[in-house]
Amino acid sequence: PPLYKQRYQFVKDLVEKYKPKKVADLGCADCSLLWMLKFCSCIEVLAGVDICANVMKEKMHTLSPLPVDYLQPSERSLTVTLHHGSVAHKDPCMLGFDLVTCIELIEHLEESELKKFPEVVFGFMAPSIVVISTPNSEFNPLLPRVMLYRHPDHKFEWSQAQFQSWALETARCYNYSVEFTGVGHPPAGMEKVGFCTQIGVFVRKYPQTGESLQSEKPTEAVYKTVFKAVY
Ligand code: SAM
Repeated sequence: PPLYKQRYQFVKDLVEKYKPKKVADLGCADCSLLWMLKFCSCIEVLAGVDICANVMKEKMHTLSPLPVDYLQPSERSLTVTLHHGSVAHKDPCMLGFDLVTCIELIEHLEESELKKFPEVVFGFMAPSIVVISTPNSEFNPLLPRVMLYRHPDHKFEWSQAQFQSWALETARCYNYSVEFTGVGHPPAGMEKVGFCTQIGVFVRKYPQTGESLQSEKPTEAVYKTVFKAVY
């Protein structure tokens, strides 16, 4: 399967493993991953955030309930919301999530945004699990391309050592553990270059009770809710 589907499947497998009730997808783009996740029966709250309102609106209708959802209501409740905003800003609607996914997001952040990102995700949102994927630049010579980066909007592409040192430092700073993996295997004999997409799975080391901590974190709303569906 294409690489993006392998990334989505990786997230789905993570959801099956940890059974989070509340999942937020940062940099959700056209909501493809959210659409896939709405079929995971453990999830009761799904939220997407993107800085580009237009790309989010493209297919957001696919997140609306279908007639069958009304005719055969399921036991679980599901609320899906989309917010227009930046991962460099804190908004109270982002509190209380169990899993936060950042798939192919960080390489699109400006230096100033990337600086603020750990405090927003690991410090403020502080979910029990964070998954971050980003291109592995060491794999690039194996790709049929002659551009500097895989996508013109990429601000950087990191080697395995660069991503891992950023991730380990972030994990240390916010009291998370992190494990590295990826999708897109290198050809036989070239294992050293690593996966095409590198992935870090961060697990919070300390327990947290959602409600109590939320009240300690007063912040003004800065995101704009552009979609909400209740199943
Ligand atoms: N996560 C999706 C996926 O894997 O298919 C889309 C990834 S797309 C390559 C990166 C997305 O991040 C874009 O939709 C872009 O608008 C969004 N983005 C870039 N900077 C952002 C920011 N500061 N806050 C929120 N989203 C941002």
